[in-house]
Amino acid sequence: MRFLQNYPHLLEIAYHSVERLLKPFQRWLVPGGWAERFFVNLELVSKVPVFDCRMCGQCVLHSTGMTCPMTCPKTMRNGPCGGVQANGNCEILPEMVCVWVQAWQRSTQLKDYQQGISIIQAPLNNQLKGNSAWINQLNPQVQIHPKGWMA
Ligand code: SF4
Repeated sequence: MRFLQNYPHLLEIAYHSVERLLKPFQRWLVPGGWAERFFVNLELVSKVPVFDCRMCGQCVLHSTGMTCPMTCPKTMRNGPCGGVQANGNCEILPEMVCVWVQAWQRSTQLKDYQQGISIIQAPLNNQLKGNSAWINQLNPQVQIHPKGWMA
């Protein structure tokens, strides 16, 4: 299913569709309880095969060309690092195309989130690892950012 990442615009449409579908139910979709358990399982069977999702709980796919930054061997939320090789591959896994090179290329194919790649992502809150990113997206209060964080 990873091939779907090569069609970021289609994934962007799917993202919008899910977002529109969930919005009316926002008040029931809260962290903890049955909704969270359901969505964790849903994300495990959908986002893991398509995005190689690592269940960080704070999804930024729409800001990274529908490419999961957690698949970077350095798990860089803001990339690329200084180690991208001249051929665009990773310095840690030389046979692998840099996740951030892919993110940049794919983000140019997005219609609405093309500029998202310029956003500086907040540090990851590891306490949300394994939680449902969709539930957390609908409940931004759980995404604790460092004091004074502006982005
Ligand atoms: S939830 Fe986190 S690990 Fe999963 S696809 Fe989104 S950014 Fe990647």
